[in-house]
Amino acid sequence: MPKTKSHFHKNLHTINIILKKIQTTLLDAFFPIRCLGCNTFDDWICEECHTTLPILTQQHCPVCKKHTTNNGVVCPECFNITKDNINGVFVASYYNDKLLKKSIHYYKYRFVRDLSEPLSLLLAQALNNSTLPTPDIIIPVPLHKRRLRWRGFNQATELAKSLDLQIPLITDILLRVRYTMPQVKMKNKIKRQENLTDAFVITNNTSIKNKNILLIDDVITTGATLTECAHTLKLNGAKTVFCLVLARE
Ligand SMILES: [Zn+2]
Ligand SMILES: [Zn+2]
Repeated sequence: MPKTKSHFHKNLHTINIILKKIQTTLLDAFFPIRCLGCNTFDDWICEECHTTLPILTQQHCPVCKKHTTNNGVVCPECFNITKDNINGVFVASYYNDKLLKKSIHYYKYRFVRDLSEPLSLLLAQALNNSTLPTPDIIIPVPLHKRRLRWRGFNQATELAKSLDLQIPLITDILLRVRYTMPQVKMKNKIKRQENLTDAFVITNNTSIKNKNILLIDDVITTGATLTECAHTLKLNGAKTVFCLVLARE
């Protein structure tokens, strides 16, 4: 009995994904691409609107979120509690910018994969203002396979690919093995941490030992995901772990 039920659910899930894909394809055919900012044709974010996307000029400690720091490194006061953890988070832009917020929403929840191009351009522009050390490798924050199946792509991987920094991009070493509830939906801090315990594993630590790693993600919400990723990487010998995100949600 339970087997039939789970099979049924799995099939239903697949049918849902197929229907969603058909819907998006049809929408594309009947409603050509328009700029999410000004509604002109051909680009998801036209050149002119892209120039209005703000670049964050001050970075903050990702732990206390109070102290201004260079490149968003963890401030000295917070360092002791996070030394086996993330070294810093560099935030490119403001989540409360209307166009950016809308673009991220279309990218993640309306599955507009092509938005990785203009969004990664924003990351590149922000990186130009940073003095972050050049990383040895780049790792996009992984998705659980169930979520990957649902979206059809990993938004962090697509950003990293479009960013094209000529630095090795590694997507098969850090895996997300626990399906977790989206962080946004979990307001309780303890629950959020429990939600992520053992969520990530390393398949092979040879390529991360003593390496300076740059994690890439779309947005930082509570920081719990990045902290857990960084912690797993550090436990497996990573030297430093910085992170680059579009915005703080
Ligand atoms: Zn426009
Ligand atoms: Zn701090």
